[in-house]
Amino acid sequence: MLILTRLCGHKESIAKVFEIRTQRNPRFPNNVTKMMTEEQEPKKELTENPIIEWDLSKLRRKSKPVATMEEGMSILHRLVAVADTFYKGKAAGLAAPQIGIFKRAFVVHIPVVEGSSRLPQHVTDEWLGYINPVIHETDGEGEIDYDGCLSFPGLVAITRRWRRIKISALNCPEPVWLDPGADVTRENGDTFLGSGPSIFFQHEFDHLSGIMFFDREVDPEEKEKLAAEVRGHQPQRV
Ligand SMILES: [Zn+2]
Repeated sequence: MLILTRLCGHKESIAKVFEIRTQRNPRFPNNVTKMMTEEQEPKKELTENPIIEWDLSKLRRKSKPVATMEEGMSILHRLVAVADTFYKGKAAGLAAPQIGIFKRAFVVHIPVVEGSSRLPQHVTDEWLGYINPVIHETDGEGEIDYDGCLSFPGLVAITRRWRRIKISALNCPEPVWLDPGADVTRENGDTFLGSGPSIFFQHEFDHLSGIMFFDREVDPEEKEKLAAEVRGHQPQRV
């Protein structure tokens, strides 16, 4: 399911961020794509893909809290820029440690269908960003689905994720429930589709603790096979 992804940020004051945030749907107060658009953040040129692939000596590292909103927004910007430049339309999320920044921040993608119809007449892409995220509660039974990751190209697992989670973050201080998104309609009539924010959130949240999606494979035999494949890709160290 993590086959799609993107992100964003800002450079103005914290007050400006909060002002913008309150103008949005309270369910998704931290839409980074909207922030970037509204603040006309210039896009930085990226020439080299910084995403870490396979290397567990890096990807298993635990990330530290982000110190300030400015630092966090800068990281979110960077994540969106990387995803948009190298994985346009192919990523569902990206966490800071995947690009070598071991801080607690990530972005998740939400496909948006313009109009109230559930049929995707026109699909746009937006990113939600989370700085120092917290999961407060989970709701419902776990659901299984395919799962994958930009850091492990081609590897697919079946994992179980909570359907709904109650979360907060530095840039989203009021706890809100995230759901898979299929039946969320915004004030302007846009409808969110797909596996959606709650599922993607859990995948990216795990990255901050060095937990990979294949660690959560539901079939023990398959889990061992996946682990063996990952071991086979580890860089040789002298
Ligand atoms: Zn991942």
